[in-house]
Amino acid sequence: MDFTLSPQQVAVQEKARRLAQEVKEESARLDREGQFPREILNRWAREGLFGLALPREYGGAGLDYVAYVLAQMELAQACPASALILHVNHSLFGTAVTRFGTAEQKQRFLPPVASGEAFACFALTEPEAGSDPGSLKTAARQEGGAWVLTGEKNFVTSGAQARFALVAAVTDPERKPPGISAFVVDIPGTPEVTWGAKEEKLGLRGAQSVPLFFDNARLPADSLLGELHQGLKVMLATLDAARVGSAAIAVGLGRAVLHEARAYAKERVQFGQAIANFQAIQWKLADMATALEAAALLTCKAAWLKDQGQPYAAAAAMAKAFATDTAMHAALEGVQILGGYGCLTRYPLERYFRDAKAGQIYEGTNEIMRLIIAKEVLKG
Ligand SMILES: Cc1cc2nc3c(=O)[nH]c(=O)nc-3n(C[C@H](O)[C@H](O)[C@H](O)COP(=O)(O)OP(=O)(O)OC[C@H]3O[C@@H](n4cnc5c(N)ncnc54)[C@H](O)[C@@H]3O)c2cc1C
Repeated sequence: MDFTLSPQQVAVQEKARRLAQEVKEESARLDREGQFPREILNRWAREGLFGLALPREYGGAGLDYVAYVLAQMELAQACPASALILHVNHSLFGTAVTRFGTAEQKQRFLPPVASGEAFACFALTEPEAGSDPGSLKTAARQEGGAWVLTGEKNFVTSGAQARFALVAAVTDPERKPPGISAFVVDIPGTPEVTWGAKEEKLGLRGAQSVPLFFDNARLPADSLLGELHQGLKVMLATLDAARVGSAAIAVGLGRAVLHEARAYAKERVQFGQAIANFQAIQWKLADMATALEAAALLTCKAAWLKDQGQPYAAAAAMAKAFATDTAMHAALEGVQILGGYGCLTRYPLERYFRDAKAGQIYEGTNEIMRLIIAKEVLKG
C-alpha cells in the first residue's frame, strides 16, 4: 500500500498546520468566554479553508476528502470549536447541497458557503427525536406554491449565526414510516424562523448550539433538497460523510492532548527525575500515540473510500466511534499525566477533556455508530 500523500494534500495539511498555530492562544480565551470564534473563522475563510472539498465550479477548492480530513486534523489541534463550525458549513451543509441539490440550488447556496462568507447549519435533532430521527415532529405542508414549516429543532450548531439551514420535516405523516423531506432555508429571508438562547455546554463552547423555531415558516417551492419524502436519506447520507470529518476533528484533539502531555512529562520532576522516565507514564503516552495513529488511519481510509465512490458508511461509523473514543481516553489519561495541574483551567488539558466528550455524542452517538457497524458485520 502507498501511504504517500499527494503534493496537494501535503500543501493543504501544511497550510492548515501553520494557520492552526496562529490561533492556539486565542481559542483558550474564546472557550472561557463562550464566544463564537468569528475572527479565527474569517482568517480561515480568507485562506480558502471553507471550501476545501467542495466543487471548484461553485467556489470550492475541488480537493478530495482526504485533503479535507488532513486539514481538519491540524485545525482541531488548535481550536476544536472553530474546526467544528467549519465542519458544519462544509460537510453538514455544503456536501449535502453538492450531492442532492439542483443546479440552481448549488449556484445559490454553495459559493457563499464555500468562501466562508455565509455560515450554515444542519437541523435534524428535536427535543423528542435524537438518536431516532425517524420520530421527528417538525412538519411541512404545501400551501399554494410554498412550503410551510412548523416545529422546533434543538442543539443546532451555528444556528444563531447561520444564513442557511438544512432542515428535515415530516411531509407525509400517513406513510409508514412517515415521509420526511429535507429543505434548504434562507434564515434571514424567512422571518418566521427564530432561535433561542445558546445552550451553556460542557465543551466546544465557542461552537454555540441553539434551538431553532419554525412558526409557519413560508419557504419557496424550490426549497426542497432531494426528492419529496426522501429527506431522511438526504440527512443520513450527509451524516455518513460528516462523520469522517468528525473523526478527523477527534484525531486533532487527541494529538493536541498528546503534545501537551508529552511536553509536561518531560519537564515535571518528581523523585529527582522527569516523570517521563517512569514507565507508567511512558505506557500512557505509547498507548495514546498508537491509538491516535490507528484513528488517523481509519479516518483516512474512510475518506479515501468516499473519494473512490465506494460504500463507506460503516467505515465512517468505525472511524467516528474509534477516533472520538480515542480522543476521550487520551484526554482522560492526559489529565492524569498532569496530575492536579490537569484539573486547572489554566492548563489546556482541562479544556481538551471537556471538548472531547461531545464528539462521542454528536452526529450520532457512539452507541448508534456501533449499531451501524454491527449491521454491516451481521450482513457478512
Ligand atoms: C455539541 C453538540 C452539537 C450538536 N450539533 C447538532 C447539530 O448541529 N444539528 C443537530 O441536528 N443535532 C446536533 N446535536 C445533537 C446530537 O446529534 C444528538 O444529541 C444525538 O444524536 C443524540 O441524541 P439525544 O441527545 O437526543 O440522545 P438520545 O437519543 O436520547 O440518547 C440517549 C442515550 O441513549 C442511547 N441510545 C438511544 N437509542 C439507542 C439504541 N437504539 N441503542 C443503544 N443506545 C441507544 C444513546 O446512545 C445515548 O447514550 C449536537 C449535540 C451536541 C452535544
